[in-house]
Amino acid sequence: KAKNEGRNQWAFFQRDMDEKIVQRREMEQELREGIRTGQLRMVYQPRYDTRCACITAVEALVRWQHPQHGLLMPDQFIPLAEETGLINALSDWVLYTACSETQRYLPGLAVSVNLSAGEFQDNGLYNRIKDVLEKTGLKSSRLEIEVTENVTLQDPVKTQKTMLQLKALGVKFLIDDFGTGFASLSYLRTFPFDGIKLDKSFIFPIDDSVSARQIVENMIGLGKAYALNVTAEGVETQIQLEQLTLLQCDSLQGYFIGMPVPIESLRDLNTCRI
Ligand code: C2E
Ligand code: MG
Ligand code: MG
Ligand code: MG
Repeated sequence: KAKNEGRNQWAFFQRDMDEKIVQRREMEQELREGIRTGQLRMVYQPRYDTRCACITAVEALVRWQHPQHGLLMPDQFIPLAEETGLINALSDWVLYTACSETQRYLPGLAVSVNLSAGEFQDNGLYNRIKDVLEKTGLKSSRLEIEVTENVTLQDPVKTQKTMLQLKALGVKFLIDDFGTGFASLSYLRTFPFDGIKLDKSFIFPIDDSVSARQIVENMIGLGKAYALNVTAEGVETQIQLEQLTLLQCDSLQGYFIGMPVPIESLRDLNTCRI
């Protein structure tokens, strides 16, 4: 009897796995179609500059308006896109949309786009970005690329080369989710980053924890020591805004500053032109 039960469980497990594989294949097909047929949506979250007390940049964040499942967040489809190679097509759409909408609707503002670490292994990345800048007419100095520090782990020589080519064009690089990755800090010296974005997990506790505040103060100091622009992510309260301004954090982003919204909702931003 015990043997039979074991066999049944295995059969269930097997069926479950088969279903998951089928679901994944379906979802891959749907994402491929979705990219092709215009189901991706772009929202923009403002980034506030504490020195000029104004919005100087936006971060482009992708969404997928799925015909059955509704509006999907990046965590629900970016991993699939990375595993299936669809990330290139997705990033092309993201880069083109972010650059053309910024050029058209947000005069003078910079836009930052998230790329996956693995994309720096693609030899074509430099030309793809150069093409987008030419097609959209966005000045290269207004494009920033956000990537996690894990980008430094795979083929560092190749990654560095691509980054330097893009830097020569005028594009900037920000380390996203700073403090959560697996690289040693030595990459701050060897890779040409322009800024760091402190992960929201460090910002969240500063309201009521002195030690959390000291950690953020030290991270800001570290960034400044490397001449990097420092952004705090996940600013949700007035107190966080005041404290981070006091600590001379260069830029702030988060729900308290502004939610990610479609470009139309950003047109009346009170901005200083940079
Ligand atoms: P991220 O680049 O670190 O983006 C910040 C995330 O935090 C966004 O989530 C944003 O909506 C959210 N956020 C902003 N302010 C606050 C706040 O005050 N509190 C809290 N709790 N959250 C806040 P979202 O849009 O779900 O994006 C999640 C991640 O997906 C992004 O993290 C980024 O790594 C990735 N992602 C987004 N768009 C793209 C894309 O076009 N390409 C790639 N490769 N990845 C993307
Ligand atoms: Mg980001
Ligand atoms: Mg982040
Ligand atoms: Mg992230």
